[in-house]
Amino acid sequence: MRWLGPSFVLALVLLVLPAKAQSVQQQGGCIIGHLRNTARPVSPDIDNVCASTPNAAMPGGKSFQEYYAWVMPFLMTSFDNAERAHCGVPGCATGGAHVRLVLYYEGRVDVAVKRDEITIAIAAGAIDFVEAITVMMFQDMKDDPDRSATNGLRQWLDGLSTEGGQACRLRTPLKKFTLDLKENFALIRAAAAGIYTFIFAHELSHVRAGTACGIDPAKGALAVETACDKIAFAKVTEYGVGLPSQIVAWFVSVHHYERLAGPMLAPAGMNLETSAPARDWTARARSISNQWLQACNGSSKPPTCSSGWRELQQYGDDLIGIDLPEPCSK
Ligand SMILES: [Zn+2]
Repeated sequence: MRWLGPSFVLALVLLVLPAKAQSVQQQGGCIIGHLRNTARPVSPDIDNVCASTPNAAMPGGKSFQEYYAWVMPFLMTSFDNAERAHCGVPGCATGGAHVRLVLYYEGRVDVAVKRDEITIAIAAGAIDFVEAITVMMFQDMKDDPDRSATNGLRQWLDGLSTEGGQACRLRTPLKKFTLDLKENFALIRAAAAGIYTFIFAHELSHVRAGTACGIDPAKGALAVETACDKIAFAKVTEYGVGLPSQIVAWFVSVHHYERLAGPMLAPAGMNLETSAPARDWTARARSISNQWLQACNGSSKPPTCSSGWRELQQYGDDLIGIDLPEPCSK
């Protein structure tokens, strides 16, 4: 697969200029980004959880809030772009609601969606995961016509499958910045923002199209979540901020990671996938990939159908085709 080139880098960097007139607050063990109707007082639930969580110590003697200080502007801009993609301008979907994005290190933070308040909580580990997937995917694209890229995503997924059935241990992907590019950090973070934008667009689909995203909720959680994905994908790709192969790569990677670590992640006596059918991330990736193919074979060609799209779409299908690992053994 060939490298995407500098024009791709430039386009992405322009999309992640920091948001204006919004505030970032450090609160105990959290970083909180306030968007939209920021004059509205917010209920103290999340603030209380964050205030009682210590600010964790990170590598290099940095605090959690120093270490992850760069994240919140990317998340806020991604949320803005998700809302622009849905209906044109920030605020068009969320109305007068106060929107809060909460980045936390660890512990439990409940997500609250009330009529006048939307809170989306994200663990720092999820940010690390998205960045690592992005780095590994670029590694594949850079020099892996024959699956030979060490540190690439396909090799990581192949490696996970060999751990199936073995003793459980965390197999978090690591960021390996080995790409030979000056724009390294800007590239990775801008590209990762494409995944955050899709995630927020998915949440806004629930807000705008109804909780079940326009389908009969009796069809089940996987069908509902797939319907929300479908709306979100169409919106972000028509707007030009969605990166389909990355969304596919992220879904597939989450599934492999969760399948292997399932016995560690699920509450005692529960199976992660059977108790939460919407976590069939591979099925959701396949749906996205098919939607992409149909859009590019149809008459309205969104920006994601520019030259080279078929190669990227096949890369995603290749990831989808990798066998899931067996769960680890506790
Ligand atoms: Zn959802």
